[in-house]
Amino acid sequence: MEDIIRIAIDGPSGAGKSTIAKQVAAKLGIEYVDTGAMYRAVGLKMKTEGVSPEDIEGVKNVLEHTSIDFEQGVIRLDGEDVSGKIRTPEISAAASQYSALAPVREKLVQIQREIGHRKSVVMDGRDIGTNVFTDAQYKFFLTASAEERARRRFLELQEKGEKVVFEEILADIEKRDYTDTHRELNPLTKAEDAMEVDSTNMTIEEVVNTIYSCIIS
Ligand code: C5P
Repeated sequence: MEDIIRIAIDGPSGAGKSTIAKQVAAKLGIEYVDTGAMYRAVGLKMKTEGVSPEDIEGVKNVLEHTSIDFEQGVIRLDGEDVSGKIRTPEISAAASQYSALAPVREKLVQIQREIGHRKSVVMDGRDIGTNVFTDAQYKFFLTASAEERARRRFLELQEKGEKVVFEEILADIEKRDYTDTHRELNPLTKAEDAMEVDSTNMTIEEVVNTIYSCIIS
């Protein structure tokens, strides 16, 4: 049991956390857990049920009948693989809104802690090092300028053939940064003992290697 390693990678939207966390986990031969996908799944469920974020009792009620799990790269909402459905601008915005609510955070943090107590993980999110696993052996805070994050997302969407406007993507990133850093509960902030990695002028490989070498050294 004592051999369990927990690695926290936090940072703002679009900093490349999931790509980096996935590769670091693969190099270490441990599991990767995407907590953002869990908040997105909650956003999807609340939208489907038509419950507004102001209706706290309604949100609590829906949560009682909701199961969320992230296992081997797959996000499951009530048993259904919703990996495709959660990657839309509408669900990004919903995840950001509902993730500010206490009952949502309590439920998901509990699930995340259970996973990290069972096995070694690289977990990415906003509050992993500051709240979920304050005792994680390794903590990283991955950043990049808002313009660079917007540029990366723009190219990614363009490659998928989507019609996108750079200014809209930048505005969306800035809005989510604001909501995530200004919410009352577990706002996005760097843990004091986290190592900050600014990926603005780094390739994915360079970031993965920086983090990996820090862990194995
Ligand atoms: O990482 P991703 O962009 O998929 O996360 C979606 C949203 O979920 C974030 O904007 C944030 O509001 C929320 N989130 C959170 N805490 C986490 C992970 C994500 O509040 N640990």
